[in-house]
Amino acid sequence: MANCVPPLAVSASGIEILDSTGKRYLDASGGAAVSCIGHGDARVVEAIRQQVAALDYAHNVSFTSEAAEELAAFLCDATPLPLEKVQFVGSGSEAVEAALKLARQYHIERGEPGRHVVITRLQSYHGNTLGALARGGNVARSRPYAPMMVESPRIEPCFDYHCRRPDESLPAYGQRAADALEEEILRVGPDNVSAFIAETVVGATSGAVPPVPGYFQRIREICDRYGILLILDEVMCGASRTGPFLACEAEDVQPDIVTLAKGLAGGYQSIAAVMCTQRIHQAFAEGSGRFVHGHTFMAHPVACAAALAVQKVIRQDRLDINVVRQGEILGHLLKARLGHHSHVGDIRGRGLLQAIELVADRGSKQPFSSTRGLAAAVDVECRARGLMVYPGTGTVDGVVGDHILLAPPYNVSCVELGQIVERLGDAV
Ligand code: PMP
Repeated sequence: MANCVPPLAVSASGIEILDSTGKRYLDASGGAAVSCIGHGDARVVEAIRQQVAALDYAHNVSFTSEAAEELAAFLCDATPLPLEKVQFVGSGSEAVEAALKLARQYHIERGEPGRHVVITRLQSYHGNTLGALARGGNVARSRPYAPMMVESPRIEPCFDYHCRRPDESLPAYGQRAADALEEEILRVGPDNVSAFIAETVVGATSGAVPPVPGYFQRIREICDRYGILLILDEVMCGASRTGPFLACEAEDVQPDIVTLAKGLAGGYQSIAAVMCTQRIHQAFAEGSGRFVHGHTFMAHPVACAAALAVQKVIRQDRLDINVVRQGEILGHLLKARLGHHSHVGDIRGRGLLQAIELVADRGSKQPFSSTRGLAAAVDVECRARGLMVYPGTGTVDGVVGDHILLAPPYNVSCVELGQIVERLGDAV
């Protein structure tokens, strides 16, 4: 249990949260990249009210609902990728658990019961339940529970800022980073590997790290060569946070399974989704006929109605276009204000998922050595100035990197972006 009590939030509207002392905070992190259409949208509130009045709950084993069916169809239409089947769960971690089990059961259905290993990457985050935690790359976070779980083999992330050699071109680095997967598959034994899981744009542990162009195409080739499924975790970067509905649409890669959560219902309800291809569905249809997985609150009608309303608002108000435009403005403002700061080593991101990396020395990009994290100190200064950010400290081969993640709602205005960057600049 935490020993410090956070402020008591009493109301929120637009991109502002009000606490019980009357203090206002600009929500520059959207919570944890959750709030995507801002707080208090009357259209979503009304959709939730109508759904509760019409059908509050019906257990998902016995029933589906109009809201769930309509939302599933909407999500499949929202992406040009061939993702045709959807299952709804309650949170990002649950979505990752379901994706891991789906991959494993897919191989069992196909008569390959030996395939159980899921390869993952250092410096990544896939959730807090034991299965998802064991796939995450923040070893410090999972260490206390190590005796309780089977950890995944982890390859180096695709993170040019930390891992690209000084003499290496970006495309050459992308290939090398992807080839680490093949080496790991051969080490583990291809017939033992079920899937590779990665965040398309890495969020919480690394701070808005987009992949190097060509990286995921190479990853796809390797997965296909060894019959391994590609799971892309878009819990944070999906649902138009980087512009396209799925961030992987910009990578020219077709995943087998995608997870979505945070921006799906934009914080109005707790809901997540697992999307998969017809090929995976077909294996079940031709096999046992059933994916063995379930939670009581899966496909909750009210959560589905909220998510559907949020996704309609994004389309109606063309907020996906706003993400790209405001993302560029945010990047420019950050570079103008902090690009020359002696303790800012990198400013990066895509769309409205952006971060600054804090370093002890700008020239060598040497991180601060404090394990407590400088990001936490900057966060305190931001809150004092009425600004909510998402601080993080990650590790790559023992290197500590502090960053501040920014993920404001997609309808953030230029004036608000200016205020965010001004307060963050002062805090740093
Ligand atoms: N995957 C990713 C990429 C995430 O960013 C998160 C949450 N930060 C999760 C999974 C877990 O989601 P939740 O906290 O909803 O369980």
